[in-house]
Amino acid sequence: MKKLLLLFVIVLTAGCTLNVNEKSNKCIIATSFPGYDFARAIVKDTDIEVKLLLSPGVDMHDYELTPRDMVDIENAELFIYVGGESDEWVKKVLSTTDEKLNTYKLMDAVKLLAEEIKPGMESDEKEEKPELDEHVWTSPINAIKIIEGLTKKISELFPKYESIFDKNSKSYIEEIKLIDSEIRDIVNNSSKKTLIFADRFPLLYFTREYNLDYYAAFPGCAHETEASAKTIAFLIEKVKRENIPVIFTIELSSGNIAETIKKETGVKVSTFETAHNVTKKDFDNGITYVDLMKRNIKSLKEALK
Ligand SMILES: [Zn+2]
Repeated sequence: MKKLLLLFVIVLTAGCTLNVNEKSNKCIIATSFPGYDFARAIVKDTDIEVKLLLSPGVDMHDYELTPRDMVDIENAELFIYVGGESDEWVKKVLSTTDEKLNTYKLMDAVKLLAEEIKPGMESDEKEEKPELDEHVWTSPINAIKIIEGLTKKISELFPKYESIFDKNSKSYIEEIKLIDSEIRDIVNNSSKKTLIFADRFPLLYFTREYNLDYYAAFPGCAHETEASAKTIAFLIEKVKRENIPVIFTIELSSGNIAETIKKETGVKVSTFETAHNVTKKDFDNGITYVDLMKRNIKSLKEALK
C-alpha cells in the first residue's frame, strides 16, 4: 500500500505539478508549443521544469481548460500564454485567480499586425474589423524578441540561474539567426516571391518579415476548414498562372483543399510547420522550434526555386 502511494506521489510530481512538501516551486507552464520551446531552451541545465498545457497532436485552437490544468496553472511559478483568440480563456483565468500569477504574454513582445483578407480568401463578412493576428512566433525575428523578453522574466523569477539562462538564451538566438539568414538567402536568390496556402494562413508575420506575397484559403486560423468552389478555383488559377511548383498545408490539417488543387494541377503539396503544436512522435523526440524551421527551409527551397 505504501509503495502504491509513493508511486502516486511520484507520478503527480513528474508532470510539473507542485509537490506539497517542496517549499519552492520550479514549474513553468505554457499554453502553446512556441512558449514551451523557448522556455525549455532558456532553462536548460537547471532543475526548472517546463510543461506544455496542450497535448501533442491537438490543434491549439481546440484546447479546453480542465480543472487539473487550472490547478497546475495556479501553482506554476510562471505562466506563458499567447494572448490572442486561441487562449482567450486565459483572461478569465487571470481575473479569477486569487493569488498573483506571474505571466508572460507572447503578443506583448512584438509589434502586432492585423489579420488580412486577401483576394480569393474565404472570410466571415459579419466580422466588422479585422482582429490582431496572434501568430507572432512564426517570424524568427519575432521569436528572438520573445526569447529576449522571456529570458529577462525567467531571470527575475529564478535569479540564481541568471548566468545559465543568459548563456542558453544567447546560443538559442544564434541558432535562430542562422535560420533567419538561410531564409533570406532563399528569398533573395529566387525570382518567385509567392507562397500558396491551400489551408488556413497563420503566417502573416513570416511572410511580412521576408517580403513574400501569399494567397490562402482562409485568413489566420479561421474556424471553417471547407473552402468553397470559388476559393479553390481561385487558388488553382494562381498555381497555373504563376507556375507554382509547391503549395502548402499547415501541420495537423486535413489537407483536403490541397489534394483537390493537386489533382487539378499536379502541383506538389508540402507541410509548412507553423509551430502551434507538434505531433506526439515529434514531441517525444524533443523536436524544437529551430528543427521545425529547418523543415520549412527545405520546403521553401522547393517552393521558391
Ligand atoms: Zn492559429
